[in-house]
Amino acid sequence: MNKITNHMPTAELQALDAAHHMHPFTAGAELAAKGVRVMTQGKGVWLTDSEGHRIIDGMAGLWCVNIGYGRRELAQAAARQMEELSYYNTFFQTTHVPAIALAARLAELAPGDLNHVFFAGSGSEANDTNIRLVRRYWAIKGQPDKTVIIARKNGYHGSTMGGGSLGGMAPIHAHGGMIGGIVHIGQPHWYAEGGDMTPDAFGLLRARELEEMILELGVDKVAAFIGEPVQGAGGVIIPPGTYWPEIQRICDKYGILLIADEVITGFGRTGNWFGSQTFGIRPHIMTIAKGLSSGYLPIGGSIVCDEVADTVGGAGDFNHGYTYSGHPVAAAVALENLRIIEEEKIIDHVRDVAHPYLAAKWQALTDHPLVGEARLVGLMGSIALTPDKASRAKFASEAGAVGYRCRERCFANDLIMRHVGDRMIISPPLIITPAEIDILIERAWKSLDECLAILKLEGMMKAAA
Ligand SMILES: *Cc1c(COP(=O)(O)O)cnc(C)c1O
Repeated sequence: MNKITNHMPTAELQALDAAHHMHPFTAGAELAAKGVRVMTQGKGVWLTDSEGHRIIDGMAGLWCVNIGYGRRELAQAAARQMEELSYYNTFFQTTHVPAIALAARLAELAPGDLNHVFFAGSGSEANDTNIRLVRRYWAIKGQPDKTVIIARKNGYHGSTMGGGSLGGMAPIHAHGGMIGGIVHIGQPHWYAEGGDMTPDAFGLLRARELEEMILELGVDKVAAFIGEPVQGAGGVIIPPGTYWPEIQRICDKYGILLIADEVITGFGRTGNWFGSQTFGIRPHIMTIAKGLSSGYLPIGGSIVCDEVADTVGGAGDFNHGYTYSGHPVAAAVALENLRIIEEEKIIDHVRDVAHPYLAAKWQALTDHPLVGEARLVGLMGSIALTPDKASRAKFASEAGAVGYRCRERCFANDLIMRHVGDRMIISPPLIITPAEIDILIERAWKSLDECLAILKLEGMMKAAA
């Protein structure tokens, strides 16, 4: 077989991809017919594709490339570790230096008594670990019936059977079903679901669904609540200020475990090390992945509080683990990534420079006729597209049809901005500069203008009845 390289004609690469590569969350045949875009290089916030386009990555890959692409230090950390000890496991009373050092560093960074780390290969795996951890915890405590985990509609916690079941996305449940013992309450999505209520009143209402669910199930059945500080894949839904304090109060009152899924919000995304700090959440367990290694290698994990770790650790074997739990090369790369975030003061840059600069320009997008609201926390943001700003109306077309058209225009204009339904979302690398933000915003305006023109042409600027 020929060696496949970056320098082959795009059409040949597309044909091979279509013939042999199954893509996640993709209609395979449709993509094969259209032709996939082949990325070949990354540097900072910029991607290059096989046609030589220079694309500004408003999504940091999949919310993960926090320090930007192409940092030599991470490549060198990986190479050094591969030569030193390329692999060893942590199952059989053994460990290695990168896993020790990374666990200790995470314990230092994480707030409160989150002092223990169980490593996984991804966010989904880490959430599967969390399901077992919280159920095991209550079983050891003599309450084996406390198994139910309460999660949220339109939450995202990964795509394994456990992660996909914790998530509240019907299209995922529809493909392969759900595991048992997980229930979902409403999301704090004021713009779409808040009606005539104020955001704060709506935030309280949705948080109190947790209390209602605990009482309905019986507190003796409930193990934990899980939520993302800010829903990411659900459309960058930043909850009203009343929401998390009320969730915290309810978890405290009923003594159920609180899991903060920080896979996106961790490692600087919201302007602090963790989203829990930004929103005043005191979790027993944090799920981490993505920005932990800036996506350079796959690694995730659960940061666990003293009480849960000591209980689970004090009762014999915990029958769970992954071949790659704490993989030394991934751990070494994650450590180097954390060093760079700290020494280059990247979180200060988010808080003091990039967020304020982007926030003003992001908010100004609401001057565009298509944009109903603009939200931004740290460097994750969303805009709602609407045919009628005053009523926050949805489009008459199928949900996502407008968002898809907008995303296509962004793609054509060398800007990666994703759509979730008819919301457009961004989550750029944290190192983005004001000059790069100017380019991102300029391309976003152009794409919105082109999208509006298409909607008018196709008669789609109509509100749902
Ligand atoms: C991406 C994501 C996950 C899943 O992580 P994978 O590494 O894709 O398995 C879990 N939770 C949240 C909040 C995520 O955004």
